[in-house]
Amino acid sequence: MSPDADLLALAPWITGMLGLLVGSFLNVVIHRLPRMMQLQWDAEVAAASGQGPAPEAPAFNLLTPRSRCPHCGAAIAWHQNIPLLSYALQGGRCAACQAPIGLRYPLVELANAALFAWCGAHWGLGLAAAAWAAFCAGLLCLALIDWDSTLLPDDIVLPLLWLGLLGANQHWTGVSLDSALWGAILGYLALWSIYWAFKLATGKEGMGYGDFKLLACLGAWFGWPALVPIVLMSSVIGALVGIGLKISGGLREGGVMPFGPFLCGAGLVCLLFGPSSVLKVVGL
Ligand SMILES: [Zn+2]
Repeated sequence: MSPDADLLALAPWITGMLGLLVGSFLNVVIHRLPRMMQLQWDAEVAAASGQGPAPEAPAFNLLTPRSRCPHCGAAIAWHQNIPLLSYALQGGRCAACQAPIGLRYPLVELANAALFAWCGAHWGLGLAAAAWAAFCAGLLCLALIDWDSTLLPDDIVLPLLWLGLLGANQHWTGVSLDSALWGAILGYLALWSIYWAFKLATGKEGMGYGDFKLLACLGAWFGWPALVPIVLMSSVIGALVGIGLKISGGLREGGVMPFGPFLCGAGLVCLLFGPSSVLKVVGL
């Protein structure tokens, strides 16, 4: 095999390993970003209500403080924080207090590694693979943050939207810039119109502005023709899950179920199987 072919065969392994490490960081983002947003709002509300500057709070961001066991507060050493391996070696328990660690942590690492490996297998090692890997990591984060907190942070959605437009311009996504641009515009407007129609008709809010921006983002990555399949698939699956949760009594208080995780899921299906496969899934 030529050196190039060697590198190409290795690409999924290299990107997959990278995906494990990034996945470990995604767990931190998923856990901390909603909390950081909440602290920011609390500080703004306190400032606006004239309570003066809030007392100096300990720094809380993606890097500080160090990761701790939520159960006993023991700091997690680097060797207890190796993706997948530490979880397996410690039997899914905290090394200090033996409290079980959520299965979600290794699953996020594994899912991200698989997605990165897929990108490596498809695009080799290069900017297109990097862009699509960022897309996958972003959607994984957004899905879980929205599921947990019904928030879709602009800090993730907007850079992904710009990256999608850049990707079209640089021929990383195989979508013309024209189609990506219209995808972003129509994606936003489609959900914005549904939101207002629903709100005017029922007085209720069916989704949030984060959902409009997220569909705009998906439109930028896949082009405008993919919008209909994406909306169809996320609505059908979202409705099925909603009904399932209602029957099982798993729906949270107020009956709120975020739409973002289903948009993210449809986006990933579009990537892995192509937009037309989405139509087959919903039986069209
Ligand atoms: Zn512990």
